[in-house]
Amino acid sequence: MVQLKKVLSGKMKVKSIPPFAGSGDMPEPDVHVITSGGVRIPAHSKILASGSPVLENIIERPKKHHRSSDRKIAILGVPYDAVSAFVQFFYSSRCTDEQMEKYGIHLLALSHVYSVQQLKQRCTRGLVQRLTIDNVVDMLQLARLCDAPDLYLKCMRLLSDNFKAVEETEGWKFLQTHDPYLELEILQFIDETESRLYVQLSEAMDCLEHICSEGCTNVGPYNMDPNEHKGPCSKFTTCHGIQLLIKHFGTCKKRVNGGCSRCTRMWQLFRLHSSICDQPDECRVPLCRQFKLKAQQDRRGNDPCWRLLVKKVVLAKTISSLSIPKRKREEEPRMAMDHQEMRSFKL
Ligand SMILES: [Zn+2]
Ligand SMILES: [Zn+2]
Ligand SMILES: [Zn+2]
Repeated sequence: MVQLKKVLSGKMKVKSIPPFAGSGDMPEPDVHVITSGGVRIPAHSKILASGSPVLENIIERPKKHHRSSDRKIAILGVPYDAVSAFVQFFYSSRCTDEQMEKYGIHLLALSHVYSVQQLKQRCTRGLVQRLTIDNVVDMLQLARLCDAPDLYLKCMRLLSDNFKAVEETEGWKFLQTHDPYLELEILQFIDETESRLYVQLSEAMDCLEHICSEGCTNVGPYNMDPNEHKGPCSKFTTCHGIQLLIKHFGTCKKRVNGGCSRCTRMWQLFRLHSSICDQPDECRVPLCRQFKLKAQQDRRGNDPCWRLLVKKVVLAKTISSLSIPKRKREEEPRMAMDHQEMRSFKL
């Protein structure tokens, strides 16, 4: 390696960086970190070794050719200032916002390579805060290379929520030509996110029927005493949320003209139920027959987006009814209708 030869020739500049060089209580630095361009950063082997098992290995490796006062560790291919911030972190356990802004990517890579967990977490958080439509593809690649699952997931979420916009970025175009596997991974993730939405919606439909026919905890059909079922629901994790929504829908004053987002959500669930209900005559779900009638009269209301949604929910319902036994999902309860896609449906 060319840089290494230059370094070994010993004609390199030494740059002192506070706070660890030349401070009174500190022993003399006993190791030099060699950076690209040949600038050397003096440091203490004990401190580097205690912060990074990888550096510890390098430092403790038996040295054949060098005196112990002449230890060098080369960290090349990264800007000098990034290496400097990296070395500083061993002393201060801190890294400024400015450093994160400028060198967050390098610091994540360094913390991964040298296994500095604390810095890696700091970088992951810092980079997540700085995620944008324009940098998300690069960040995703970085997260994959550096094995940073938090960052990876945040990137995937941003990507799948803003896919149309991301598709227009340079990063995405570059990815398509250079990393078809990652492209595939992203598309699969989006696909799975969508199918999860339909599974959640289909569960919400089952739950709605359960509340409206059997009654549960606080809500039930008019001719049934809800006190019989006081305990929390044992069938659906979303049951409590949907009960609250139904109760709200029954009492909300703003409901008219779509002035209330919770009511709009409930309205959509009722409409979705009606679209998939095959027994409207015996059905006890509110508005089921009204929606059916309205759909028959109003041919224009037959919009393709809604039809597709209904089709996918029916499919998800069929699939879930085939997989026995039906267990209460262990994921944290989450209202299915929170998804962006549902928000775009107007009634
Ligand atoms: Zn229930
Ligand atoms: Zn309301
Ligand atoms: Zn119905």
